[in-house]
Amino acid sequence: MTAAIRRLDEATINQIAAGEVVERPASVIKELIENSLDAGARRLFVQVDRDCLAVADDGSGMSPGEMLLAVERHATSKIGDAGDLERLSTYGFRGEALPSIAAISELTIYSRRPDLPAGSSLTVRGGRLLGTAAFPMAPGTRVEVRDLFFNTPVRAKFLRSARTEQSRLLEAVERLALARPGVAFHCTLEGRTVLSTPGTGSHLETLLAIAGLELARAVRQASVDQDRRAVLALVGAPSTAAADRRRQAVWINQRPVTVRGPLEAAQAAYPQGLAPGRRYPLIYLFFDLPPEEVDANVHPTKAEVRLAAAADVAGLAVRAVRQAFPAREALATPGLPVAREAGGQAYYQVPGWPPEPAGTEGPPQSAPGAAPELRLLGQSGLRWLVADGPDGLYVIDQHAANERVIYEELAARGGGGEEGVTGGAAEPGQWLAVPATLELEPPAYPAWQEARGELARAGLVTEPFGGRGVLVRSVPLRAVGPGFDPAGFLMDVLRSLQQEEARGNALAPYLRARRAVASCAAAIKANQPLPPAEAQALLAGLARCAEPWRCPHGRPTMVRFGHDQLNRRFGRE
Ligand code: ADP
Ligand code: MG
Repeated sequence: MTAAIRRLDEATINQIAAGEVVERPASVIKELIENSLDAGARRLFVQVDRDCLAVADDGSGMSPGEMLLAVERHATSKIGDAGDLERLSTYGFRGEALPSIAAISELTIYSRRPDLPAGSSLTVRGGRLLGTAAFPMAPGTRVEVRDLFFNTPVRAKFLRSARTEQSRLLEAVERLALARPGVAFHCTLEGRTVLSTPGTGSHLETLLAIAGLELARAVRQASVDQDRRAVLALVGAPSTAAADRRRQAVWINQRPVTVRGPLEAAQAAYPQGLAPGRRYPLIYLFFDLPPEEVDANVHPTKAEVRLAAAADVAGLAVRAVRQAFPAREALATPGLPVAREAGGQAYYQVPGWPPEPAGTEGPPQSAPGAAPELRLLGQSGLRWLVADGPDGLYVIDQHAANERVIYEELAARGGGGEEGVTGGAAEPGQWLAVPATLELEPPAYPAWQEARGELARAGLVTEPFGGRGVLVRSVPLRAVGPGFDPAGFLMDVLRSLQQEEARGNALAPYLRARRAVASCAAAIKANQPLPPAEAQALLAGLARCAEPWRCPHGRPTMVRFGHDQLNRRFGRE
């Protein structure tokens, strides 16, 4: 028997290359963002949904012909010949990413060059061109990726939970936003904004937008410049320390990279005195190095680099850390950084942003965890409760707070385990005199079929009504109010169920249905005058919660305007 040697076809080559370039959804986002940055984007929109990853930009766009080329292997606008490789200033250069992604997904590009009157679209699925069309749009590009790994089941199996993949995705977006502080990034996760950077060019302001004021105010900035090498460092006070290196990272020539040397040197130069178990303060190092000293070709996605002058680079990192935190004033808490000083040490004040007082999320340091005792002062805008607390003024998001209270009540009742599936009292329902009917779209219909029984026990009784029609017979009592729309309510509940599932929530199905119904009922009550007795009961409920500071979806339930903040604001230091 002789083994036949065959040339692999184009589709197979692309699938193999995809294995190198596209490990997981985060790799797709990284490649798409890099392409947008290479196209000169000033504003970039990243959209992460359960079934679609998309990146849109206001960059240079592509003509219909260029789009066709872009999904072909080794077609790139970024190098002409091998000599160019040395002087590379763009993220991409191999022309591999788009064809690789298109080989294992359904990829659609919408693009328009500013000098052309209209744009066009192109769709490739599993490496096969499905079609192109004219498309009216503003100049720029939008790339959408669906059904990732649909034809590579083995790769799909290696993915972690939806939540893990999402956090890697977000981390990739954050690292690129920090790499390019001059570009405004806006990122949504299932419709919710999770990141929005100002694009001002300041690393610290970008960090502030990503990590929040509490963290950013504990960070100092330093820069060192020697020969043709420079570093800008963001170094956190001990309060920023974590148990692992998740708050330490390196960028070289505006590219997030994995390289341990400089971080280890920086960590060693950091003044001692960190709490045991929290050994790694925030250290972000942004290097500018001569391109010929950086070998980015170690890894196909260019994430790992080899440095020619590793010792000098580590030396820069050490000096930057010493500049930010000189040993003698070592561990005094830095407070809000003051304005930049000339030469040497660069402290920083974020100019006018966010406005102060901005209010603070999360528990005050004096009482970590528990909710403070609050005295209701009133309601504002049919949405916020205003209350007085021991250390300041509190504004409570009445809907988020209600969600948190219901969430913990349900968890306590159902025990979160098997008991919730079999036991638990059925929720009282309100039978509708005239049942409501609606048609469900394909993704909602199977979700309804699956959840129907559990929804009924949560007080939302429905029946099939021909085709994809559904009849709503009874709704939970606590949802009903003036102008209540049973069909819209069912849609909201199904959407919320799908979102919970996308987040990989491992609750028992019955509890999940109960929670979706209850939180939608709470949502209906969002924009309503709340009688003082109910409002006070809500605050009391919040005070009983184990995690009172955030709603189950992670939004803050209350914001505190500390007396110290108010004093500063009114000039009464
Ligand atoms: P590379 O980035 O290595 O050149 P890719 O496969 O990522 O390869 O992209 C192929 C080509 O498609 C790019 O060289 C560029 O010309 C074009 N392209 C991709 N994305 C965009 C975008 N967002 N805007 C403009 N052109 C793009
Ligand atoms: Mg690219």
